[in-house]
Amino acid sequence: MTARHINGRSARTLGRVATQGVDRILISERRLRKRVRELGTQLSRDFAGSEIVCVGALNGVICFLSDLIRETDLMTSIELVDVHRSVDEGTHRVTLDENPFRETLEGRNVLIIEDIVDTGLTLTEIVAAVRRQQPASLKICALLDKPAHRQVHVSLDYVGFVIPPHFVVGYGLDYEGRYRNLPFVGVVEDAEWLPAMLAQAPSA
Ligand code: 5GP
Repeated sequence: MTARHINGRSARTLGRVATQGVDRILISERRLRKRVRELGTQLSRDFAGSEIVCVGALNGVICFLSDLIRETDLMTSIELVDVHRSVDEGTHRVTLDENPFRETLEGRNVLIIEDIVDTGLTLTEIVAAVRRQQPASLKICALLDKPAHRQVHVSLDYVGFVIPPHFVVGYGLDYEGRYRNLPFVGVVEDAEWLPAMLAQAPSA
């Protein structure tokens, strides 16, 4: 997929205060809406007759999850979990609470909904926590798949867009707490982002 450079409506959108520091639009609001609708339709078909628990990691997933569930015609419930990130001797670590869920997932159909999969570490931890609860089934839906920095293999059942290794913001995704409210996915060219830095570092 190629990056979408500033033009027409995009240029006007980027002129707003909320977009200051964003270099360009990668995925427009219109494309996001269309793709989320397609994913919702596909989920409704694939899970027809089942009730699903949607598991998402805070905070990045808020826009995607809330739009996606409204595009499905399914009985759904939601479990939002906190993710703790740290750096240990140059290694990026991701942990969840011992039991991050309010309700049991045992015997239930679980759909993990992710905003973006980069190294794969966050998703791996969420998958492990869900599996410990012995769900009846487990599927994964990611809006953005950024495979260039992958450190662990993850298998995604539904993907919105495969993107190049840019640091992206908007539609729930932040940089230093900002930009979650942008209706599109944009690129911040000079963002300092740990997984990307680790991927570029010469190996010892
Ligand atoms: P992973 O654990 O796969 O490296 O990264 C997953 C999490 O890192 C995402 O849920 C998101 O919070 C953050 N992340 C990864 N890539 C990006 C990015 O390009 N932009 C933003 N804003 N967050 C990212």
